[in-house]
Amino acid sequence: MNIRLYDTATREVRDLDPVNPGEVSIYLCGATVQSAPHVGHLRPAVAFDVLRRWLTRQGLKVTFIRNVTDIDDKILAKAAAAGVEWWAHAARYERVFTRAYDALGVLPPTYEPRATGHVPEMIALMRDLIDAGHAYATTEGNVWFDVRSWPAYGELTRQKLEDLGIEDDGVLPSEAGAVAAQKRDPHDFALWKAPRPGEPATASWDTPWGRGRPGWHLECSAMARRYLGTEFDIHGGGLDLRFPHHENEQAQSRAAGDAFARSWMHVAWVTQQGTKMSKSLGNGLLVSELLEHAPAPVVRYALVSVQYRSMLEWAPDTLDEARTTWDRLTGFVSRAGETVGDVPADEIAKADVPEDFAAAMDDDLNTPAALAVVHEHLRAGNSALASGDDDAARAELVAVRAMLDVLGLDPADPQWTAPTGDRHAAALDALVTVELEARVAARAAKDWATADAIRDRLTAAGIEVQDSADGARWALAGS
Ligand SMILES: [Zn+2]
Repeated sequence: MNIRLYDTATREVRDLDPVNPGEVSIYLCGATVQSAPHVGHLRPAVAFDVLRRWLTRQGLKVTFIRNVTDIDDKILAKAAAAGVEWWAHAARYERVFTRAYDALGVLPPTYEPRATGHVPEMIALMRDLIDAGHAYATTEGNVWFDVRSWPAYGELTRQKLEDLGIEDDGVLPSEAGAVAAQKRDPHDFALWKAPRPGEPATASWDTPWGRGRPGWHLECSAMARRYLGTEFDIHGGGLDLRFPHHENEQAQSRAAGDAFARSWMHVAWVTQQGTKMSKSLGNGLLVSELLEHAPAPVVRYALVSVQYRSMLEWAPDTLDEARTTWDRLTGFVSRAGETVGDVPADEIAKADVPEDFAAAMDDDLNTPAALAVVHEHLRAGNSALASGDDDAARAELVAVRAMLDVLGLDPADPQWTAPTGDRHAAALDALVTVELEARVAARAAKDWATADAIRDRLTAAGIEVQDSADGARWALAGS
């Protein structure tokens, strides 16, 4: 294995040196499911998807965990404002995120744990920390990490305690005084939070230190330990998670005795006019809106075309440029396919990628350089087609598709060629139309029993039929 990745902790490009040879374990901090994702939320997911595909293609067994934060202050506040249960609010947006990941061709993680399903693991971790003298509970039911007890605190982001500001940790101004009085040091952070007055009883769990709910940082440490063990290969997320989230995760896991992540990868932001995309600035581009204006692989191409550590400036013509390039790639793949015949998916999956492409991917996932190699082979493939050299055209087709497959962008992948929703809808429409035609024929023959039986069958299948002057229309019940 030759892959070298930039480790945010040591600030150098290092060889990937897995804990278990032949296997790679990865934990990516996933979504806090409080609202719909914008394209900036999807960038880390796509970047790690490319990493995973590249490692997998080299025969490594990848265990990839991406969590769901399904309880936190914002979820509780938004659910209360909307008048719905917090868990229903979280479930709704978890599905929206899943649809966005699926739409952009992000493979499902090996496992996708939810914070609320891992309270016992969090209690065990807090127990370890309290026993080791690195955490303390206060009578209010909060549990705090004692930063002064852990001299290495700040090592991930190379900050000294004295230089750090004080994170508000979701504390309301009205609570600030009481919270400050509980902490041994203003930088101590919450492992566990006592419920606020008025919060639903379903949003807290029993612990030996009182009822409460998880602090955000604790949940990732507990879930990483649960699914990847006490030491794993790569931990990552968006750049803004480095501090305090990842600093706190590393401090609490190592203070509890876990070796924790061997290396850290952080994905830069999507920016607009140089500013981080965020909903609070009003510049968030919802994934659902983007997909109304551009095919999903075009959005993915735009995200993949910039190396993950560089800021990705989302300009008005970003999607237009990606679309032009995508059309060129799909055009070649379909013309070459018509000329030399279909290439089995199996052959694409096993094909060796060109050395220059592999070198670019091994160089800290240098996707722009990798795409430059794709375009060299695209030109060679088009020349081969123009000169009628079918053998060369086929070789370039396999090379181009194999390289694009690593990036999740093979134009012939069923992910992009066969939108399942459309296919299923078309098949259903054809079947219902057959039934409705049979019903029309039965009525014409005054065979009322058969006509009624057809209608009953459709109703039982969840299909509503409405008769009108133009004939019968159908829709799924409740849609
Ligand atoms: Zn996390």
